[in-house]
Amino acid sequence: MPLFEYECIKCRSNVDDSLKQIEKSSAKKIVSDLVNKYDNINHIGVLDLEKEKVVAEHGKRDRGAVDLDFYLNEGTLLVFLNLPKNYRFSELIYEEDDEKKVKCPYCGNKKVEKVVSSFAFTSDLSTDMPKPDLSNLPPSVRKNTFLGDYIEEKDRPKKNK
Ligand SMILES: [Zn+2]
Repeated sequence: MPLFEYECIKCRSNVDDSLKQIEKSSAKKIVSDLVNKYDNINHIGVLDLEKEKVVAEHGKRDRGAVDLDFYLNEGTLLVFLNLPKNYRFSELIYEEDDEKKVKCPYCGNKKVEKVVSSFAFTSDLSTDMPKPDLSNLPPSVRKNTFLGDYIEEKDRPKKNK
């Protein structure tokens, strides 16, 4: 119930803007300018899937950071973005006041938007629904029965637009 997802408007708009510009032109200069301009983007890689080659690449990819990938131009262009922190993040909210304190873990901006996602909805259900009683099952079966918060593929946070 108390887990919500938010998006930092500023960090997200940097990503949106980058994708829009790359969609128009994936020239090396454009890509390097974007990496230099936006501090929440470590690295951009643009891959032409038809020609199977890297069109442009700039920055330093941090393996411990977040990789997002987007398909542009009807799926022919793959754009990798490496962000120090995702613009989407989740917060535990217990009281109404908690929501006022929510800020972007990367830039600290409080201008965030709540995401109504199926992911959060799934968490809701799993918290509120009673779990089946396993105590009558034989131990051999019980130990193989997993009642976790498994998230179906469709409910996982989306990477692509
Ligand atoms: Zn931010």
